[in-house]
Amino acid sequence: MRVIVDRNRCIGAGLCVLSAEDVFEHDEGGLTVLLAARPDEAQYAAVREAVALCPSGALTLSEEGAPPPRE
Ligand code: SF4
Repeated sequence: MRVIVDRNRCIGAGLCVLSAEDVFEHDEGGLTVLLAARPDEAQYAAVREAVALCPSGALTLSEEGAPPPRE
């Protein structure tokens, strides 16, 4: 699994950081940066929750072997 953050869409709501703090972090401007673009399997559920909760649609998942989504 690969995680993609569109920082142009991120509004800094922070739900991703609350859901998966080992994968997402806020920079000094309050926007999300990735700590792990390819999270461990143990983090998949938390990452999927973060994607589902993100209010701006800034987070995208790409499953291994599949072509990455458009950014
Ligand atoms: S949940 Fe979405 S909008 Fe909120 S900080 Fe994370 S990426 Fe940005």
